[in-house]
Amino acid sequence: SRTFNFSAGPAMLPEAVMQKAQAEFLNWHDTGMSVMEMSHRSKEYMSVAHQVEADLREIMQIPDNYKVLLTHGGASLQFSAIPMNLTNEGDTVDYFKTGVWSTKAIKEASRYCNVNIVAGSDEMNPTEIPPQSEWKFSADAKYIHICSNETITGVEFQEDQLEAVFAQGKPVIADMSSNIMCREIDVSKYAMIYAGAQKNIGPAGLAILIVREDLIGQARKMTPTLMNWQTYADNESMFNTPATFAWYLAGLVFQWIKSAGGVAAIAAVNQRKAQKLYDYIDQSGFYSNDINKSQRSWMNVTFNLPTSGLDAVFLEESKAAGLLSLKGHKAFGGMRASIYNAMPEEGVDALIDFMQQFAAKHG
Ligand code: PLP
Repeated sequence: SRTFNFSAGPAMLPEAVMQKAQAEFLNWHDTGMSVMEMSHRSKEYMSVAHQVEADLREIMQIPDNYKVLLTHGGASLQFSAIPMNLTNEGDTVDYFKTGVWSTKAIKEASRYCNVNIVAGSDEMNPTEIPPQSEWKFSADAKYIHICSNETITGVEFQEDQLEAVFAQGKPVIADMSSNIMCREIDVSKYAMIYAGAQKNIGPAGLAILIVREDLIGQARKMTPTLMNWQTYADNESMFNTPATFAWYLAGLVFQWIKSAGGVAAIAAVNQRKAQKLYDYIDQSGFYSNDINKSQRSWMNVTFNLPTSGLDAVFLEESKAAGLLSLKGHKAFGGMRASIYNAMPEEGVDALIDFMQQFAAKHG
């Protein structure tokens, strides 16, 4: 009778996290208050906040010369904040255009500086990152921006491509909203990493920024106070009232990751989950996935049925089987199973079982 939620975001949270949050909901650590009701300046809440940062630093092995900032406005606000904090008018920046999210980032950056598209097509939903032979970096770019995982199609930058980006020797900025903490990464190779919380971190309402310290303090004069990274760095991300409950829940997720053996252990499960789902799709003779095989996302697995006429039936029957939110993004169509860190392997097994039965019935 258990349900599994494949939503792309806000996405499911680990069951153990939800149980802990429920147990502490009305009375956190015998304070007689919910975390939601505490002053963000109280010593109780500050202890929560400090632990969240310490745990994140531990699980992502964030070097000391990086600041962790917790901000408002989701990942989208950073689409504008990044050029405001790092460029002056007339500067050039390099962007990969690999899907809807990087295209939105480009649109915002174009308001403030000259954007060079390193690679990408005019297609709204490309099914691959173009080969390195087609990449065109500009000589004077202030930074290179990538969306490391395009959530809508399920196209993800691979290690060799990332290495080729780092090899340019420019500050590399990554929107990791949909794949942060899905595998181990070397934070020191990035100048800045950002992610909306509502997939692998916690509930919506919070974004996490990991920024190399030397990049803070250069914002344009016109930058709104709450978009200037310095404001967050100087005030422990509490210049104004932060999203306290989302911040606390993110902390429970980080503790869950630690108790599961850290990001390396979670990555091993993620790889198995993605591999078995893609393997099944490829050999099914019924379902198909159009993404370049070497760039398929571990987190967002898109697939099509033999005819779109079956989509509604698939969604209805999968929902009845307790497999929720499998509809693909309207911009791409088809189905999408988002299998973030919190999705247990049994959820993917249950999905494959259902897909087999559906194919047998409707094939
Ligand atoms: N970037 C990526 C890769 C996303 O998947 C999303 C949301 O789904 C966003 C950015 C936008 O995030 P937010 O809604 O937090 O602004």
